[in-house]
Amino acid sequence: MLKKTDFDFIVIGAGAAGLTAAQYGARSGLDTMVIDLSDAGGQALNIFTLENYPGVFPPVPGRDFIKNMEKQAKSFGAKIIHSKVSSIDKIGQQFVIRTLDGELKAYAILIATGAQHRSLGVDGEKKLLGKGVSYCATCDGPFFKGKKIMVVGGGDSACSEAFYLATLSNSVTLIHRRKQLRAQKAVAEKILTHPNITVRYNSVIKKINGKDKVESVVLENVETNEDVELPTDAVFIFIGMNPRTDLVAMLPKDESGYLITNYKMETLVPGMYAAGDVRAKPFRQIITASSDGAIAAHQAHEYVNTLKAKMGAAK
Ligand code: NAP
Repeated sequence: MLKKTDFDFIVIGAGAAGLTAAQYGARSGLDTMVIDLSDAGGQALNIFTLENYPGVFPPVPGRDFIKNMEKQAKSFGAKIIHSKVSSIDKIGQQFVIRTLDGELKAYAILIATGAQHRSLGVDGEKKLLGKGVSYCATCDGPFFKGKKIMVVGGGDSACSEAFYLATLSNSVTLIHRRKQLRAQKAVAEKILTHPNITVRYNSVIKKINGKDKVESVVLENVETNEDVELPTDAVFIFIGMNPRTDLVAMLPKDESGYLITNYKMETLVPGMYAAGDVRAKPFRQIITASSDGAIAAHQAHEYVNTLKAKMGAAK
């Protein structure tokens, strides 16, 4: 059970947005608690090399970077617990957050729950998950050293992960459904010039074959409608993310399901903020998640102080 249950500011999600908010919140004097289901760090834990965070040079592993962020937040007094949040209600001036380990209360909360990977939804994908099908290159890539690897997607994730996988294998094929990559130019160029990576455009995976492990995929060329079966040992899928918004289903979202906030990270509920990849915005990066987190914590600090002053005056 939880020893302490009342806080000023509770952050749900310990990725880059949540940890930055925790640091800024705690440093500004807010009694701050972070709740995350698992190991703090979010998607940054899976970044092989973080090379585009300004001021962090030479590049460092994403895990080292985000674990340092966790330590920094804790150094200012933020607490982190691991539990599953089941519901959030606002009762009077406080939010009540129910977790599997008990109930917590706070005057302000931040939804920083991020996003989770999308799946292709093709035959064999579920059955062969963990047997060659994967959504995490740094976690599973080393199992396929020197083997044939396919990567699906044309965005920053697919390209960055293909680049990492090409350090393990000289046979990496990137499968993209269009004839142009979506990834940022600098990221795409590294793929297009890499000797270990081949790109197959206008192609989609229709089926992943294998009895106990991935053996081949059926690829369809979407221009010619021709199918071809290609042998492979692994299929890494990076086709975008779905925001985790279940806890706040009532809040407005954009057409892709991301939470809508204003520029202060405020949602429609006073005292409730949203930050990071769960939020509707044009560019999702660690740096933009951190920026959101800092703004949200700053606003939460103002909100909580004003609220406490009003409550004090009313006594
Ligand atoms: P993304 O940018 O949404 O790209 C998803 C890719 O998957 C697109 O190329 C898309 O094709 C393809 N796709 C979507 N559904 C598909 C399907 N059913 N079948 C086949 N292909 C499908 O997602 P992301 O790459 O995961 O990136 C998410 C966010 O994180 C982005 O904002 C990105 O900039 C950021 N990010 C940045 C970095 C970095 O800076 N190093 C690294 C990773 C992620 P279309 O192009 O045809 O739509």
